[in-house]
Amino acid sequence: MTNIKQRLNQILEKIHVAEKKYQRPRGSVTLLAVSKTWPLAHIAEAASVGQHCFGENYVQESIAKIDHCTEQLEWHFIGRLQSNKSREIASRFNWVHSVDRLKLAKRLSEQRPTDMAALNICLQVNISNEPSKAGFFISEIPAVAEQVSQLPNLKLRGLMTIPAPSDDFEQQRTTFRQVTTLQQQLIKQGLALDTLSMGMSGDMEAAIAEGATIVRIGTAIFGPRIKPGLIGRNN
Ligand SMILES: *Cc1c(COP(=O)(O)O)cnc(C)c1O
Repeated sequence: MTNIKQRLNQILEKIHVAEKKYQRPRGSVTLLAVSKTWPLAHIAEAASVGQHCFGENYVQESIAKIDHCTEQLEWHFIGRLQSNKSREIASRFNWVHSVDRLKLAKRLSEQRPTDMAALNICLQVNISNEPSKAGFFISEIPAVAEQVSQLPNLKLRGLMTIPAPSDDFEQQRTTFRQVTTLQQQLIKQGLALDTLSMGMSGDMEAAIAEGATIVRIGTAIFGPRIKPGLIGRNN
C-alpha cells in the first residue's frame, strides 16, 4: 500500500512541473484523488500523506465511506446522479461536479441542510457533443449558469468536463480550451467562477496547460480498478 504514497507524490510532482511549464502559479491546481471502488483504508493511506480532496462516483458506496470516515476530508461527487438519490449527496458532500440538469441543481439546493456551508457546484459540459454523454451543451450553459447561481444553498464554482478520449496532446488542448473560453464568457456575464474541473490520468497536462484548477485522478494513484468500465455510469 505504500505504493499509494509513492504514486501520489509522483502525480503531485507532475502537477508542479506542469504548473511551471505553463506559467500557472504553484498550487493553482488541486489534485482530486478519485477513490471510487477503493476501500476506506486506501483513502486513509492517501490522507496520511496530506491528500485532502477525494472524488466519488457511486451513491451507496460513497455514503458508506463518508459515514465511516473518521478524518476531516473534502468530498467531491463526480458521478452521474439520479434525482431520487440527491438528498443523500446534498447532506454529505462538499462539492458536486456533475450537475447536468437544472432540476438536479434545484433539488440539491432544497435538500442542502441549512446548517452546512453552501454546496459547491460545477456544471458538467458535454464538450464532445456526444448524445450518450451527460452534461449540458455549450449553448445551454449561459442561461443555466445564471439560474443555478441564484439558488440559495449552492455556490456555483465553475465547469466540469469529460472529453472523448484522445491521444493527441494538441487535440486535448483544443477541446479543453473551449471550456476555458466558455468560463471566461460566464465571468464577463457577471458570474464569480473560479473552478475548471478537467483533466484525468490520460490528459492531465493538456488540462493544466488550458487552465484546469482541479484535476481528477484515480488509476494513477490507486492503480487499475477491477471494474474499469464504470466511468460516468449510474451505480
Ligand atoms: C473515474 C473518474 C475519474 C478518474 O479516472 P482515472 O482514469 O482513474 O484517472 C475522473 N473523473 C471522473 C468523472 C471519473 O468518473
